Amino acid sequence: MKIIKRLFHIMLCILIMLQTSCYPSNKKNSNSQILNVYFINVGQGDSILIQYKDINMLIDAGPSYNSKKLVSFLKAHNVKKLDYVIATHPHEDHIGSMDSIIKKFKILKFYAPKVVTDTTTFKSMITELKKKNLKINVAKHGVIINFDNFTSLEFLSPIKDNYQNLNNYSTVVLLKHRDTSFLFTGDAEKLIEMELLSNNVNVRADVIKVSHHGSNTSTSGDFIDKVKAKFAVISCGLGNDFGHPHEQVLKTLRSRDIICYRTDTHGNLLLQSDGKNISRR
Ligand SMILES: [Zn+2]
Repeated sequence: MKIIKRLFHIMLCILIMLQTSCYPSNKKNSNSQILNVYFINVGQGDSILIQYKDINMLIDAGPSYNSKKLVSFLKAHNVKKLDYVIATHPHEDHIGSMDSIIKKFKILKFYAPKVVTDTTTFKSMITELKKKNLKINVAKHGVIINFDNFTSLEFLSPIKDNYQNLNNYSTVVLLKHRDTSFLFTGDAEKLIEMELLSNNVNVRADVIKVSHHGSNTSTSGDFIDKVKAKFAVISCGLGNDFGHPHEQVLKTLRSRDIICYRTDTHGNLLLQSDGKNISRR
């Protein structure tokens, strides 16, 4: 009887060991093909976190008044280092919290378009970059970041060296993950949309981060027809002073049956790609 009990005990132990080793570890996405794109509710501004395997990328850091909120969000999402940071263009609603981000996180590569401004926000971003010995990689048409063989981010703009409006320096980037894609447009205006189309740049994407918080300076029908997105995300502050998003833009998206999400009404948004499909989580 004693032997049978012991044998039963050994069998049970083996079973438990087998089960434990068969289950995937809880480590976030480390071996999966899941790509997460978070549109963080930073109020009137943009900040997007992309997580794939153990890679973290941040596109813009939103306005300074929400810096604590942004830092907490990143920490809550297990961000210990940022492999890539992109500052689309040097306006406060995109780089306002960049100094805090540079201070608080280890950054491996920093990208921004080649343009300078004399604002305090821009200067404090540069000061923090210098303190960390981080150089700025120029964000411009043709630059590509490969996450692996199946996932990459391509800089589609700026194409030219000079623009009159700072918004138009916004680097437009296309993230491809297997069969799915996301287009991030910063605050690029219709001039840039036309420039991309006239240069035959492929802008087709499943998700478009609507440019300039849904302002009617951007999102022309011709551009949207080329992107052919299924989902659109508008990043803007609730009851903002600019009336963003503008009705014309909402109409353009609605008339094409594009599913529209907004950070002002939906809060933080997660769109997840498994490589074949994109869904909201
Ligand atoms: Zn903006």
